[in-house]
Amino acid sequence: MEQKSGNIQLQFVAAAICCIDWLCSGVDLMKLSRVLVLCLIVTLFLPFNSFVNAQSSNPTLQRCTPSSAATMSAAPETQAVMPMTSAPVLYVVTTVAPLTNLTFNIGGKRIKIHGLIPEGTDSHTFEPKPSAAALISQADLIFLNGLHLEEPTRKLAQANLKSGAEIVELGTQTLTDADLIYDFSFPKDKGDPNPHLWMNPLLAMNYARIIRDTLTKRDPAGAAFYAANFDTLSARLQLLDQAICDSIASIPAKSRKLLTYHDSFAYFALRYGIDVIGAIQPADFAEPSAQEVARLIDQIKAEGVPAIFGSEVFPSPVIAQIGKEAGVKYVATLADDDLPNQTNDRLHHSYLQLMVNDVTTMTQSLGGDPSALKIVPTDNLNGPDDTIESSTP
Ligand SMILES: [Zn+2]
Repeated sequence: MEQKSGNIQLQFVAAAICCIDWLCSGVDLMKLSRVLVLCLIVTLFLPFNSFVNAQSSNPTLQRCTPSSAATMSAAPETQAVMPMTSAPVLYVVTTVAPLTNLTFNIGGKRIKIHGLIPEGTDSHTFEPKPSAAALISQADLIFLNGLHLEEPTRKLAQANLKSGAEIVELGTQTLTDADLIYDFSFPKDKGDPNPHLWMNPLLAMNYARIIRDTLTKRDPAGAAFYAANFDTLSARLQLLDQAICDSIASIPAKSRKLLTYHDSFAYFALRYGIDVIGAIQPADFAEPSAQEVARLIDQIKAEGVPAIFGSEVFPSPVIAQIGKEAGVKYVATLADDDLPNQTNDRLHHSYLQLMVNDVTTMTQSLGGDPSALKIVPTDNLNGPDDTIESSTP
């Protein structure tokens, strides 16, 4: 899917065709009426057609429906199932921390996990060390996001895969090409879709489903364990989905606008009805030009957003400057691939906590009430995740 600017381009082309046809038609009345009918069809049909193309039939990308706060409650969870093994039976290599965490929640202590992309580093430009080849060559499974996020890691994995091992691209398997979004930092002409599917919890649920099915195929004895973990996690993700919906809906409609440094909320925004008005980081992950900064400042003033957002992974003096000059609050703590609680409280070093923190920050900064998020359990299903190995930057 391309953003709405595509519609304007199409309308412009349609108008240009009409004008050329008009100029070439002379004064012949038959030609004149033909041109008028053609112009009418083109201008009526094209905007409608391009609008239809911009919509998806995938329910995970459709607008959610806010509930009344009084009806929201957390269902009792099923009892945890024991992993029933004294040692891990599979060695799994993952990339970014949210994928690592979903894998840990499904696989628990039946699997040994190595997270290859260190938290706090830019996953889009990450190059694995040559020593990662030895690690990959021992793995039974490699879970990647795909969609061009971790190309150097994917290439290294392909070159060093042991016999019978498998690379599974969770993002690539989650959406069809037609539903991939190309936008601010991920323009269509550059060819890399926005890869941040996991920032939409319903798409993250599909990642978890693929992880469950893949682990079950490799380790059938663990089927009941993986299935029970998936059931609990997916119930939490449903709860999170509704809580985010309610939290975002509490933001005054005129402030339901997101301007972030890093462009990671495209699939989130479609689901929760918040408008991504821009991303500061250019497609080459460098800093924006002076002209672009000036344009963004004008846009922020015109749109009247109360706050703009950055992240710790991408510290940028530019975004602080933009916030100051536009006279809006600058909040630096949104995250998309480094999880909260990295050193203490590894029980809550989780994807669920990442999403609750992000939406709480967003909602509070834009004038809403994030209390709906309080009912979402955010602890890891299989206890603190300190058994996970991770690479150092
Ligand atoms: Zn990212």
